[in-house]
Amino acid sequence: MSNVPELFGSLVFNDKTMKARLPKETYKAFKAAVADGKPLDVGTAGVIANAMKDWAIEKGATHFTHWFQPMTGITAEKHDSFISPTKDGEVIMEFSGKELIKGEPDASSFPSGGLRATFEARGYTAWDPTSYAFIKDGTLCIPTAFCSYGGEALDKKTPLLRSMDAIDVQAMRILRLFGNDKAKHVRTTVGPEQEYFLVDEKLYNQRKDLIYTGRTLFGAKPPKGQELDDHYFGAIRARVSAFMKELDEELWKLGILAKTKHNEVAPCQHELAPIFTTTNIATDHNQLTMELMKKIAPHHGLVCLLHEKPFAGVNGSGKHNNWSMSTDTGVNLLEPGDSPLENAQFLTILSAVIKAVDEYQDLLRISVSSAANDHRLGANEAPPAIMSMFLGEELSAIVDSIVDGTAYDKKEKVQMQIGVNVLPTFPKDTTDRNRTSPFAFTGNKFEFRSLGSAFSIAGPNIILNTIVAEALKQFADVLENTSDFTGTLNKLIKDTIKEHRRIIFNGNNYSEEWVAEAEKRGLLNLKNTVEALPYFISPKNIALFTAHKVFSEVEMHSRYEILLESYSKIINIEALTMVDMAKKEILPAVMSYVSELSTTAAAKKSVSSAITCDVEEKLITKLSNLASCMYKKIEALDAVMLDVKNYSDGMELAKFYRGSVIPAMVELRAIADELEGLTAKKYWPFPTYGDLLFYA
Ligand code: ADP
Ligand code: MG
Repeated sequence: MSNVPELFGSLVFNDKTMKARLPKETYKAFKAAVADGKPLDVGTAGVIANAMKDWAIEKGATHFTHWFQPMTGITAEKHDSFISPTKDGEVIMEFSGKELIKGEPDASSFPSGGLRATFEARGYTAWDPTSYAFIKDGTLCIPTAFCSYGGEALDKKTPLLRSMDAIDVQAMRILRLFGNDKAKHVRTTVGPEQEYFLVDEKLYNQRKDLIYTGRTLFGAKPPKGQELDDHYFGAIRARVSAFMKELDEELWKLGILAKTKHNEVAPCQHELAPIFTTTNIATDHNQLTMELMKKIAPHHGLVCLLHEKPFAGVNGSGKHNNWSMSTDTGVNLLEPGDSPLENAQFLTILSAVIKAVDEYQDLLRISVSSAANDHRLGANEAPPAIMSMFLGEELSAIVDSIVDGTAYDKKEKVQMQIGVNVLPTFPKDTTDRNRTSPFAFTGNKFEFRSLGSAFSIAGPNIILNTIVAEALKQFADVLENTSDFTGTLNKLIKDTIKEHRRIIFNGNNYSEEWVAEAEKRGLLNLKNTVEALPYFISPKNIALFTAHKVFSEVEMHSRYEILLESYSKIINIEALTMVDMAKKEILPAVMSYVSELSTTAAAKKSVSSAITCDVEEKLITKLSNLASCMYKKIEALDAVMLDVKNYSDGMELAKFYRGSVIPAMVELRAIADELEGLTAKKYWPFPTYGDLLFYA
């Protein structure tokens, strides 16, 4: 292994590199612009662009690209070389300030949810100078936001940056009220824990379902699954270990703080967690991490599956979004602190989060919705579809004491008074015991655990930032206009917690009792994507996003359309793939086996009619019956798919996929999986679960 500190960030045009390579005034102007969120003047941008280009060329780059995050959930890039012709027929390498600041990719082939119809097809990308440029595959990548010419966001980064501004403004108002005059900004921080599967590349290539959809659409349960719990934190396979090592090195070069890696619960499932950083950078880094996982796996004869549920019957993959707020002076606002004043501020922010999660359960639920994540949420391997918050025993007791005036029992019984009593610190081991909660306080941050593994973390963090910004705004509106700050604050915190306490649940989120209890409490239980999505464009939510200038109403409708469309498209591809595999692979395989059995039986009979053929006969009968039944299921699915054209409204179409296509898929799979159990191994047309999950 090479020298890690030297390796770290070596492909990033980071602060250290800028300091070393930019003229002093340019560097200062750049820092000032970033700190205040102001645009750079073209002159300064030109100097930076030139320095970036020289640096990139030294590192072997020949091209540059604006790197952006369209609504596909993955990243996009269009490479331009640095070459520029000279009069004498030669070329020089050039990169201008204008090229750095703004790009004009054709927006027409990215999902826009109807924005394209109303606005120009052209779009533009704009440099996000808070995220460093980096080199990937010999190309200088400039992190950018992607908008239409009318200014509507066509990507995930633009609203994320807007939501970060929104929470910055509101949190700063609160900090000022608590007498903090040092901090200039509050940023949210995120550390996303990324789960993924690795499967053998040769086996993967034999499965059309994995290739087209990222998950297995057929597959009987193998004799062994995850029941022995022998994979979690177990010794890592040699190939996997080599993959992880290469991945770490590549991530470090890009300045990504890859920290822990281990085996996860399911066979061939793994996890990587980085050290947390500012949310927009964490988002860029998580996109790069997923991309590199996919790219590096084949170097080791592996394929990385980021799908939320690649295999039925074993755990799927999620992503834990660890979230907190911190000042530019480095203070974590979800850290209780040591003094009564800091504690009061902590409790203010905590109650804002409680209020936000309760009032906007629907948005949090939507932020983790997708066709793929529908397989996990509520399936006893991931948090349920019901949103609730875990505070842990101690913090809950404190909260109860504040609201009810009851004594809080620590060493001695005290009646907790805001701004008077000092809170204990909450070590991780007292706050992290509940792994079933969707949204858990873990000592000095919240862990939002419902995200799917393939998600861009932009979506959930846009929601989190905005809903907490709104709660903080409402608090600041009250607190800025009172002559009795302490009295008003006390009442505000008490009233808020009293009103929103129903969202706090410290018990087992997987239990039946919780579903009933949540219903009694009036909490939402939006079981799937189709049920959840309509809430996105409710008047309450449109008011929220437009007030904080995170989304315009037009943008919200466009995103709603995109989410619906993507849901339907995914199920459509899955259904077509199933029909294809069933017709072209499974049925022919079963027929071949039946044919072999028949030939054997006939041959045996021709030797002597006394030889028993009852095994062949039984198998032939069973297989033929099942095959006939399977054929009917294929026809049924085919017929359902023909009805798709009858739906033009996005919501109606998604409902049809949910209500009619998915059940037909489930029925087809059940028969196919039964056939797998009866068909000789050498006839089965693709690798089984056993093959895929337990490779060497
Ligand atoms: P686990 O949840 O697996 O027990 P840890 O609690 O050690 O793991 O960390 C989980 C993630 O939380 C890591 O990515 C870590 O960097 C991140 N994290 C820690 N503190 C913060 C914070 N203040 N803001 C955001 N993320 C944080
Ligand atoms: Mg975790």
